[in-house]
Amino acid sequence: MNFSVYNFGCKVNQYESQVMTELMIKSGYTYTEDKENADIIIINSCTVTAVADNKVLKLMRHIKREHPEKVVVLTGCMPQAYPEKTAELMQADIVLGNSARQELPQEVEKYISNGERIVNVHKYTKSSDFEQVCVSEFEERTRAFIKIEDGCNRYCSYCIIPYARGPVRSKPMEVLKREVEHLAKCGYKEIVLVGINLSAYGSEFGLHLCDAVESVCAVEGVERVRLGSLEPERMDKEAIGRLSKLEKFCPQFHLSLQSGCDATLKRMHRHYTTDEYRRIVADLRETFENCAITTDVMVGFAGETEEEFSQSVEFVKEIGFAKVHVFPYSQRKGTVAYNAPNQLSGSVKAQRSKIMVDVTNETRRVFLVKMVGRTESVLFEQPTKDGYWEGYTKNYTPVKVKSDRMISGEIHEVLISSSDGESCMGEIV
Ligand code: SF4
Repeated sequence: MNFSVYNFGCKVNQYESQVMTELMIKSGYTYTEDKENADIIIINSCTVTAVADNKVLKLMRHIKREHPEKVVVLTGCMPQAYPEKTAELMQADIVLGNSARQELPQEVEKYISNGERIVNVHKYTKSSDFEQVCVSEFEERTRAFIKIEDGCNRYCSYCIIPYARGPVRSKPMEVLKREVEHLAKCGYKEIVLVGINLSAYGSEFGLHLCDAVESVCAVEGVERVRLGSLEPERMDKEAIGRLSKLEKFCPQFHLSLQSGCDATLKRMHRHYTTDEYRRIVADLRETFENCAITTDVMVGFAGETEEEFSQSVEFVKEIGFAKVHVFPYSQRKGTVAYNAPNQLSGSVKAQRSKIMVDVTNETRRVFLVKMVGRTESVLFEQPTKDGYWEGYTKNYTPVKVKSDRMISGEIHEVLISSSDGESCMGEIV
């Protein structure tokens, strides 16, 4: 029988979709890209916002309406965070929590043999271990994402993720090293380390994220090492100093902000102030001459006044982010902020999103203009539809060039000649 996977959400989910794909293949199932003709559909869900939930629900309804014969597996953060609610979703034949991912092939086999619906979600506990999984390949051929940390102990007041992911657990260094060595042998030049709260890597056994980065940089064949989303804490001078000594390290810091207003940050239960954030950015810019600082910003959090929103906008302008993911606050049942007073209407959130997006488009434009005239090494990926080859600089600026031959997976020095507000153009030198 064949299967296909729908992946929603973050890079961690993307990694886990690959883990499930490899588990199914090892058990004798055949992977297909052709979702229409797949016998088994695995939906790896994200539940970070209500919009993410709705996308998953809509997809499941569609599949069961059009293809009632297909076996639908609902897995990922949605069943793990809301086990009772998802257990009632009859469009899913198998409901599998993150914690039961390893049991996927066996559960599919059981369902196929007796047709009885399965709900398998067990809660994480304080003693839950890091799931011992590795992947051997990715769809993309140049860059591999590796999950090195799972879980979060911080409980920001708006976030359901600690409930869906359990406590911080980290991939042991020797397992990480073996996985990276294998991927390097397969030709992956860039390794991206990701986690739910990546900055907390190794905290349960006295290690720091820098230890993981140093170990991956030491692997022969790896040419670049990049980090996923970071929390500002633990990004102190010592950590910045250690990272700056690594030639393969890519100076792109996705430093989660959420709000540029101290009062809002406090209500969000974030553990830093705008002053601290500002200092970290200054340290990064002083150490890494051409680093990119990117972030996530939430607008319309419960109780966010006009004045607070304006402070947030001004802070975002001041930092001058290279790129920002702007998203409206979404009330998640089970979180502290769910019952907070002064929830804002959808129209206010939409209005604020638009203002913030306009501001961040401008900061991105300014960042890209600063890249013009520089010569940067670019790792090329795929040809674009308009006849260019596109790749990324170490600070994750997208750059397009013309080339008569295939340059996928190659690193070239490129003189950047222009930018169009979204990416840059250049010539290989
Ligand atoms: S740090 Fe906060 S926002 Fe990030 S996963 Fe943990 S609880 Fe959620």
